[in-house]
Amino acid sequence: MLDKTPAASHSGLDLPASVAGLAALATNLRWTWREETRALFRDIDPELWDQNLGPVAFLRRTRRLNDIASDPAWIGRIAGENAELDLYLGSAPPTSRAPIAYFCAEYGFHESFPLYAGGLGILAGDHAKEASDLGLPFVGIGLFYRRGFFNQMVDWTGRQEHRFPTNDPLDQPVARLLNPVGEPLVVTLPFPGRRVRASVWRVAVGRVPVLLLDTDRPDNAPEDRMITSQLYTAGRDMRLCQEVVLGVGGVRVLEALGLRPGVFHLNEGHSAFLLLERLRAKVAAGQTLAQAIGEVTATSILTIHTPVPEGNERFDADAVRLHMDALLADTGIASSDLLARGLDSKATKGVFDMTAFAIRLTRLQNGVSLLHGRTADRTWRKIAGKEVIGVTNGVHMPTWLGPEVREVLEGAGASFADATRVVHEHGRWTGADVLDGPALWRAHLAQKRRLLAFAGERMFAQFARHGAGPAELRGILTAMNPDALTIGFARRFATYKRAHLMFADARRLLRMLANPDRPVQVVFAGKAHHSDRGGQALVAKVFRQVLSKRFRGRVFLLEDYDMEVGRMLVQGVDVWLNNPRRPLEASGTSGMKAAANAIPNVSILDGWWDEAFEDGRARNGWAIGGRKTLPDEAAQDKADAEALYRVLENEVIPLYFARGTDGLPSGWIEVMKRSVATGLWAFSTARMLQDYDQRMILV
Ligand SMILES: *Cc1c(COP(=O)(O)O)cnc(C)c1O
Repeated sequence: MLDKTPAASHSGLDLPASVAGLAALATNLRWTWREETRALFRDIDPELWDQNLGPVAFLRRTRRLNDIASDPAWIGRIAGENAELDLYLGSAPPTSRAPIAYFCAEYGFHESFPLYAGGLGILAGDHAKEASDLGLPFVGIGLFYRRGFFNQMVDWTGRQEHRFPTNDPLDQPVARLLNPVGEPLVVTLPFPGRRVRASVWRVAVGRVPVLLLDTDRPDNAPEDRMITSQLYTAGRDMRLCQEVVLGVGGVRVLEALGLRPGVFHLNEGHSAFLLLERLRAKVAAGQTLAQAIGEVTATSILTIHTPVPEGNERFDADAVRLHMDALLADTGIASSDLLARGLDSKATKGVFDMTAFAIRLTRLQNGVSLLHGRTADRTWRKIAGKEVIGVTNGVHMPTWLGPEVREVLEGAGASFADATRVVHEHGRWTGADVLDGPALWRAHLAQKRRLLAFAGERMFAQFARHGAGPAELRGILTAMNPDALTIGFARRFATYKRAHLMFADARRLLRMLANPDRPVQVVFAGKAHHSDRGGQALVAKVFRQVLSKRFRGRVFLLEDYDMEVGRMLVQGVDVWLNNPRRPLEASGTSGMKAAANAIPNVSILDGWWDEAFEDGRARNGWAIGGRKTLPDEAAQDKADAEALYRVLENEVIPLYFARGTDGLPSGWIEVMKRSVATGLWAFSTARMLQDYDQRMILV
């Protein structure tokens, strides 16, 4: 699909001719899931690479290029990686299938490219990478935000501070998309009383393109240049404008390229205006509205991500009407016809619900785990008129597996290059049966050491900013205990995720953590949304525990949870903890990342864990409590805290510290193996894309 979305060469890279091949390696995001390419960049200039700017910004800043440009060994190594990339790009299986057009408001490809806020974006990034690996005809559509989601700093009182990073096209792996005559492609969008133009940036994600619209152009009014500036901007009017650009603009880009997608996949309702634009185009081409609705609906699918109705995107209906009128002028379609399709399940007047609108104009809808599918079905069945199914999320394994564990898995036959693997191994990964336990444990310890070193450096920087003295700073680098059972908890700090649950009985928790024979430590990470005061209070509450006399040195908080912190944690802790209020966790992909890295989950039976958890003799982790939910929140929190203490005290901690004469926790290692066996394929994006194909697209 890259050839059908031609782009100009990157305007920020001007490299010596003999190493010009670095440009292709830097501008295709394949490096984010290929260790050898990363190692090549790092070896050019380790200190600069470790600043994690991403390879385009790195190449623009390093002073080492002239040295390597005259070194035949370097030239050969670069040519080798270029040849490998070309082989990858050229080896997609031929297909006559029409492309899948995938729309999402955010994409998480890598921490150096901040176009994402959290789980939704990372899922979209993983989806695109897997579509590339599987060789699917796929094109992603999104927005190019000059200001990404905020970086989090936590001050000495626990208050969350926000710093918004900028995306400079010269420093990012983006190139101008060209139209069929070779000029930069521009789409023009009818807005109320004016026109708004958008440029398009192409991101190459392996073999697949993701196209990002950008209204920051000198020929737009200053206020319209700001439309795509800020990811999830708080202002409702601006957000509405963004979603018009995403949906309507995205369809116009595909049209301008002459692409004819076989299906439009709406990843969350933000892009629902794509349905409107498709209707308009069909009516303008002579169809009746009824015909157009039939065709658009038959070729569109929707994935819903939030279990709470309030989490859905809603706008003032009058504001939507203005946009519809501008868009539908001259078509004869009355906007009132279409506005009515945006009424929510309670038919709240004056409110336009993007999810309701999307459901009424798509053929199939899904939630993102089996349990969430059932929850979403209860919420939306009346509007959908049929079952909302569950297609469980997955994660892109080459992105999330740590190098040491990956090597052990490959030693047991796991192949991440073979696109058809999942067809044959849909459920359990049988290779786990022959995994070498001691080797898996050693690999885990190597990943754990990396995490502890990383965490030490991050906390050093934080406490230095707070003004800690030299003696304290000296201790911080090694504050985490490599022999302690290390519990990881990282996610958005929303109140329903209950980051603070384990502190319900602080004395009981302390007894557990401070046992000198069986030490336990907990590491937290997570941002609260910049307008979520309740979540920010939770960050402060956890940070006060970090500083408290009793928990100091046993409870830690890493600032700025992003893909890098996430990778370190899901690869390096000993257990992954999740304790949301059931059934509010739609899926919970971080637990899948941990499971594939042989890190057992300890979790409420919510989201993916409700279907993944296996107990009995061959358990793959632990459940906190059961499936019953109490109507009273406080009572539920109390019961869940009690269940959490019990499972940690009676099962998790004793098993982890039950060492044989060889020093190995053999019972624990069995749980680690089971975690991989049940997690590696079943919760991969390879399985997920196959499910989308079989249950949503090709049916
Ligand atoms: C995987 C990931 C998420 C989503 O995971 P959840 O379990 O849904 O919270 C969010 N943020 C980052 C940085 C991640 O890596």
